[in-house]
Amino acid sequence: MSYISEIDPEIAEAMELEAKRQDYKLNLIASENYTSRAVMEAQGSIMTNKYAEGYSGKRYYGGCEYVDIAENLAIDRAKQIFGAEHVNVQPHSGSNANMAVYFSVLEYGDTIMAMDLSQGGHLSHGSPVNFTGKFYNVVPYGVNKETETIDYDELMDIAKENKPKMIVAGASAYSREIDFKRFREIADEVGAYLLADIAHIAGLVAAGVHQNPVPYADFVTTTTHKTLRGPRGGMIMCSEDYAKAIDKTVFPGIQGGPLMHVIAGKAVAFKEAQTPQFKKDLEQTVKNAKALCKNLEDRGFTIVSGDTDNHMMLVNLNDFDITGKDAETVFSKAGIVLNKNTIPSETRGPFITSGVRVGTPPITTRGMKESEMEDVADFLKQAIDNRNDDSELEKISADVQQFASSYPIYK
Ligand code: PLP
Repeated sequence: MSYISEIDPEIAEAMELEAKRQDYKLNLIASENYTSRAVMEAQGSIMTNKYAEGYSGKRYYGGCEYVDIAENLAIDRAKQIFGAEHVNVQPHSGSNANMAVYFSVLEYGDTIMAMDLSQGGHLSHGSPVNFTGKFYNVVPYGVNKETETIDYDELMDIAKENKPKMIVAGASAYSREIDFKRFREIADEVGAYLLADIAHIAGLVAAGVHQNPVPYADFVTTTTHKTLRGPRGGMIMCSEDYAKAIDKTVFPGIQGGPLMHVIAGKAVAFKEAQTPQFKKDLEQTVKNAKALCKNLEDRGFTIVSGDTDNHMMLVNLNDFDITGKDAETVFSKAGIVLNKNTIPSETRGPFITSGVRVGTPPITTRGMKESEMEDVADFLKQAIDNRNDDSELEKISADVQQFASSYPIYK
């Protein structure tokens, strides 16, 4: 940090404070993780200086021979991990990746069927405040009221009735295994494209602890920074049939020059994702989520759908008579970082909510295992029990800091 301290002490200080915050807080945000130093080294490298519009071997700029190495490696490694025929690693984000897929095969006004934001879907799956909600006719689906899980028979009925041109499978807040094979059957029944958005579960898929949608979906999109533990960015996978259309939509369709330093970071992350350690960590992420789920239930918390199959869970806070928004603040005072989230039976708006989303990727990357999930559940329960007592919350925060510090992120 020496150069920044000299040139821009204000930013240096913000970075220092952020590093401390990450070290001392217990991060239960399901969509976050800690990348390796190697990934950060690539992202903070001289590759940021290079313009490389186009694709490897077909660039609109000279001097791309070395960034081509990075992009080719990222693509080859992603193909190996997920078994995809074609990969585009240039999307700047998960939303951009989704945009590229939509723009490749849909027309303005076409019908897409996707999980509603309030039920666990993502903004880019048809939310009215997102371009998807403005450009397309959106037919939302949710979870079954009783089971709080996806009801595939109901989805089939909705699809038959509305004949969407594309079905989106994937979510930001859904804790159960997604049956992509079943989604394929539904899409085939109505002649729809199937887009699997695995932004949240990509690391689990890479590690073989979640069904891989690549054999079933026409398009698979992901972010690279969540369970996949890479740099912030997006990626698209598809068969050769759609390769040209996807590449053309990403560039020059919706993006200019790719972020070559980020693509180098993606290549590094994909190499790491092929190691036995990554597989072990991702298996542990799911074991931790299951353990945390049980520990929270034992302490009186209600878990949406009663369990988790992946890296996260939704906690229904109605029994504690506190909103998700207030709970987020209470937990924050106790040194625990998570986010408010709507629950399937939601009666409140998205800024208030009746639940919180809890994820295990960051704490697993820090080295925590099932036994530590008892401590994490204890902290959450203590915080909720002392929600109206700021001095108690401060004491809990000190304990949380001591606990978190024993699991250093960067050793
Ligand atoms: N898709 C899903 C399912 C997500 O959860 C997210 C991010 O939370 C995205 C797409 C978008 O990713 P980004 O924030 O990189 O645009």
